[in-house]
Amino acid sequence: MRLRHIPGSEDAIAVSPHVIGQPEKYQGNFHQKFGNDNPIQIEVGMGKGRFIMELARRNPQINYLGVERYPTVLLKAIKKQEELRLSNLYFLCVDAKSLSEIFAPQEVARIYLNFSDPWPKDRHAKRRLTSPEFMKIYDRILTENGTVEFKTDNQELFSYSLESIPEAGWKIDWSTRDLHHSSQADDNVMTEYEMKFSSMGNPICKLIASR
Ligand code: SAM
Repeated sequence: MRLRHIPGSEDAIAVSPHVIGQPEKYQGNFHQKFGNDNPIQIEVGMGKGRFIMELARRNPQINYLGVERYPTVLLKAIKKQEELRLSNLYFLCVDAKSLSEIFAPQEVARIYLNFSDPWPKDRHAKRRLTSPEFMKIYDRILTENGTVEFKTDNQELFSYSLESIPEAGWKIDWSTRDLHHSSQADDNVMTEYEMKFSSMGNPICKLIASR
């Protein structure tokens, strides 16, 4: 993703009531932030946040945390949340590498990965959000029945993930290489990237994984 630095984005994030600063302080206690015991679902690499905001609007009985490492990108989601003021949604400006220091074991009920950066070079494979290294992190923070749901239009990344996820000891419960013509098409919530790439004619791949 090409990024234009927006001056002041770090400062805006530091003071935003929609962002949880120093999230590790809430480890094991994120329900306090929401004021209820509803399940917590996260999107890792949420970008501008269209997907997670629509989920939060549709499912008030679920608490959502959007994870995005770049302040400049997160700022766009914050602007939308300033209008919507969804009480079941907060953002974290962190790298996914630190998720196991932020969440307690089994604190998260579901992880969404949408159009994650492909990192096509073999030497960067560990950076892919479906690599065995990241699956180990998700294994730690997800509830026993928790799932990882992954969407992409990148066929190579999808093929890689269909292998790397079982290699990490997970099961692929469901997968398709054409989500928009599948049994899950009606319930699908599109992300920003999904809208862009499907409008170009790219089929969308999806898998659901559990332990
Ligand atoms: N999920 C959005 C969508 O589908 O429209 C955005 C997709 S964009 C290609 C990938 C996003 O993931 C970028 O905003 C990037 O900054 C973020 N990202 C990539 N690696 C990350 C990491 N390790 N931790 C947190 N965010 C990450």
